[in-house]
Amino acid sequence: MKIALIAHDKKKPDMVQFAVAYESILRDHELYSTGTTGTRVMEATSLQIERFQSGPLGGDQQIGALVAKNEMDLVLFFRDPLAAQPHEPDITALIRLCDVYSIPLATNMATGEILVKGLARGDFEWRKIVNP
Ligand code: PGA
Repeated sequence: MKIALIAHDKKKPDMVQFAVAYESILRDHELYSTGTTGTRVMEATSLQIERFQSGPLGGDQQIGALVAKNEMDLVLFFRDPLAAQPHEPDITALIRLCDVYSIPLATNMATGEILVKGLARGDFEWRKIVNP
C-alpha cells in the first residue's frame, strides 16, 4: 500500500513516536511524505520515504495529486488544530480529495493507530480490488 505521512510542526514529535512504534508495519509499505516530516521520520527510524516539497511549499498538493490519481491508499496527516497554517487552502484541498476518492485519512495519532492496526490485519485489502 502507498501511505502518506504529514505532520504539522507541533505534531512532528507525535509522528516520529508513531513511526517508531509502528515501524515494523510501515516498513512493508511504500511511504511518501512532505519534506520535513519525512526527514524527521527517517532520522528516527530505518524507514525509506519518498519526500515531496515541504507542506507550505506545495507538498500537500503533491500528495493530493496522487490521491486524485488513485495512487494513494492511506493518508496519515497529523494536523495542528491550534495554529493557523499559511497553506490552509492546500490542507483543506487534500482533506477534500481524500473524501472525494474515499481514501482513509487520519488527522490525529489516535485515528492513525486504529488505521495502521487495521492495515496490519488486512483491512485495506479492498484497496487492491478498487485499485488493482
Ligand atoms: P513539512 O510539511 O513536513 O515539510 O513540515 C507539513 C506541513 O506543514 O503541512
